Amino acid sequence: ITMEAEEQQQPWKTDFYLELPKVELHAHLNGSISSNTMKKLIAKKPDLKIDDQMTMIDKGKKRTLEECFQMFQTIHQLTSSPEDILMVTKDVIKEFADDGVKYLELRSTPRRENATGMTKKTYVESILEGIKQSKEENLDIDVRYLIAIDRRGGPSVAKETVKLAEEFFLSTEGIVLGLDLSGDPTIPNQKKETQMLLDLLPDRIGHGTFLNSCEGGSLDLVDFVRQHRIPLELCLTSNIKSQTVPSYDQHHFGFWYSIAHPSVICTDDKGVFATLLSQEYQLAAETFNLTQSQVWDLSYESINYIFASDSTRSELRKKWNHLKPKVLHF
Ligand SMILES: [Zn+2]
Repeated sequence: ITMEAEEQQQPWKTDFYLELPKVELHAHLNGSISSNTMKKLIAKKPDLKIDDQMTMIDKGKKRTLEECFQMFQTIHQLTSSPEDILMVTKDVIKEFADDGVKYLELRSTPRRENATGMTKKTYVESILEGIKQSKEENLDIDVRYLIAIDRRGGPSVAKETVKLAEEFFLSTEGIVLGLDLSGDPTIPNQKKETQMLLDLLPDRIGHGTFLNSCEGGSLDLVDFVRQHRIPLELCLTSNIKSQTVPSYDQHHFGFWYSIAHPSVICTDDKGVFATLLSQEYQLAAETFNLTQSQVWDLSYESINYIFASDSTRSELRKKWNHLKPKVLHF
C-alpha cells in the first residue's frame, strides 16, 4: 500500500475545506456579491425590475461568456452609489471570512455614475472604507485592493485609472497593492496581445485559459509562462459556467498542477457563479484526486504569490502552521 493510498483512506473531516485556511487572489467585487446581498440591493431599487436569477448562474447551469458580461451590466445598475459599494464590500469581506479565507485581494474597476454623483475616486474610497470598517470589526481576514482596468475602456481611460491607482498606492500604506488588467478576452489577435502582456512579465496571470487552448494558445506561450514561473490564478467553476472550459476534468488546473507550476485556486465571481472558495478547493481535490496534505500544500503555497509584503507573508505562514494540526487532525 502506498503512502498516498493510506492517506486517502483517512476519513476526511466534512468541514475540512471550510476549516482549511485559504488565500483568495482573484475575486471581482461586483461578481462576488452573494444572493443575500443581491436581495438587499434589489429591494432598494424596485424600479429596475431585476430579479436575482438575472445576476447568478445556478448549479448545473451555464451561460456564454457574452451572457456573463451582460450579467455584470445588470449588477452594475444595482451598485450605483458609494453607499451600495460600501455595503457590498463589507458583505463580501464578511462572507469570505466566514468561508475560512484569511487573506483576500479584491479587485474592481473604478466606475463613475452620473445619476448618483459617484465618481471613480469615491468608488475607490468606498471600497477602502469597507475594508477599514471590516478591520475595525476584528474579522480574521486581511483585505487588500487591486485597482482594475477594463480593456474595453480604451487607452485614455486606462491611463486615468493608472494615475488614480498610483495616488492610492502611495496614500493607503499597502491596501492598494496593484493593477489588474481585465475585460472581455474575446478580441481579435488574441495571441499577439497575450505575448505583448507576457513580455511585461506580469506578477500573476488570471485564468490563463487561452494559454493552452487550441484557438488562442500555443506552446510558446505555455513555455514562456513556465520558464518565468508566473503564478496562475485558476478558477474552475467560472470556466465551466462561462463555457470557456468544457468540463471540470478537462480544466487546465490538471496540466499546471501536474508540472508543479505555481497555481492558486480562486473563485473569480463567487456570486455570479454561485460558489465559495472552500467549494473550489473541494472540486479541484475531487476532480484531480488530491490528498488532504496536497490540498493543504496548495493553500499554504498560495501565500508565496500574494502582493503584500514579506512581513504579511510570514504572519500568514505562522497562522497556517498554527492551524495545521487542528485542520489535518494529526
Ligand atoms: Zn476574473
